[in-house]
Amino acid sequence: MALSERITQIQPSPTLQTDSKAKALRKAGVDVINFAAGEPDFDTPAHIKDAAIEAIREGFTKYTPVTGIEDLKEAVREKFARDSGLHFCHEEIIVSCGAKHSLYLLDQVLLNPGDEVLIPSPCWVSYPDQVLLHGGRPVLIPTEERDGFLLHPETLRAALTPRSKMLILNSPCNPTGAAYPRERWEELAAVALERGLWIVSDEIYEKLTYDGFRPVSVASLGPEARARTITVNGLSKAYAMTGWRIGYAAGSKEVVSAMGIAQSQSTSNPTSIAQKAAVAALRGSQACVEAMVEEFDRRRRYIIDRLNRMEGVTCRVPQGAFYAFPRVDPYFGRGRKGRAIRGSVDLADYLLEESHVALVAGAPFGDDRYLRLSYATSMEEITKGLDRMEAALHRLR
Ligand code: PMP
Ligand code: GLU
Repeated sequence: MALSERITQIQPSPTLQTDSKAKALRKAGVDVINFAAGEPDFDTPAHIKDAAIEAIREGFTKYTPVTGIEDLKEAVREKFARDSGLHFCHEEIIVSCGAKHSLYLLDQVLLNPGDEVLIPSPCWVSYPDQVLLHGGRPVLIPTEERDGFLLHPETLRAALTPRSKMLILNSPCNPTGAAYPRERWEELAAVALERGLWIVSDEIYEKLTYDGFRPVSVASLGPEARARTITVNGLSKAYAMTGWRIGYAAGSKEVVSAMGIAQSQSTSNPTSIAQKAAVAALRGSQACVEAMVEEFDRRRRYIIDRLNRMEGVTCRVPQGAFYAFPRVDPYFGRGRKGRAIRGSVDLADYLLEESHVALVAGAPFGDDRYLRLSYATSMEEITKGLDRMEAALHRLR
């Protein structure tokens, strides 16, 4: 069978792959500690679930308008106004099957073969592969830990070519946890706008920030930024709703309406009952989000402190999201029982096999010197997992 060239250029999502490996092991009775997936361990709050149950009872189980029900678009509109002072009309908003799907649709409607998409790296695993799937060229721009993993405007400028089309920004960032202050946004937006790039701002971790950090939405910087930025967000992380698959995008009417055409020919609408649940999440009390963030923060402090105490491991304190991104390359070149650790993938495999700790290697995020651990798991699991990891690292000679 001859598969398309497109599909042979990409890989299955490494985060989802490691997560399902861990879940399968657990199902088989292995006591695995799962630091792999960026998935809150909390249950979806009750008032959100109730809204979906009510929708089923009422028979709200049919196709909906392609780009989302009016009520949800209104709730999204209110959210942007409330949180970022941004005012969108319904034609500037599309609800999709997760933020991942919104990002996918953006590539569908903006990229021609050979168009370059600038992506600060380390970055979320799906950005480059989605670009490849649409015939574009991902251009990874390295960021460094000593700069807080923030993209520098001059580095961005140096990466520009006549084929540059789009810049993907993600703050707080998966996997580094870096969060961009307003001044850096202004500098980066100036470079991007000068060159007429589309800015895609993935703000899915916006609600998960710590130490008083207040996120700034790129589109809110001014009218020019508003015109060229498509903001992507979703319900998965802030409301523990990963399985409900609701995300959204807002920006240029022309782009959003094109996304709607692609959606109408692919998934039709996002699930009707999940949309009702999303309305309840966005309009209801936000106390559940605050409680989850408080707990994430407690875990963050613990995990970063523990990692930094481990021999040969250093870990920057993340300002947002729920990932620790420790540097572990001092372990490269070591080994145990004939097994050599050549890089982050070997180390992640070793930790899974040796100590049943599942985490994701840094390599698929763009930097082999690191590992990524999600702390969206209970304190008990974190403690146990770190004990095991420390002991397994200690055994590498
Ligand atoms: N963006 C980033 C940076 C992510 O880590 C994720 C993780 N799932 C997503 C987008 C997609 O989220 P979802 O599709 O569940 O809304
Ligand atoms: N975004 C999460 C992660 O990075 C969930 C899995 C995925 O979609 O990549 O782990």
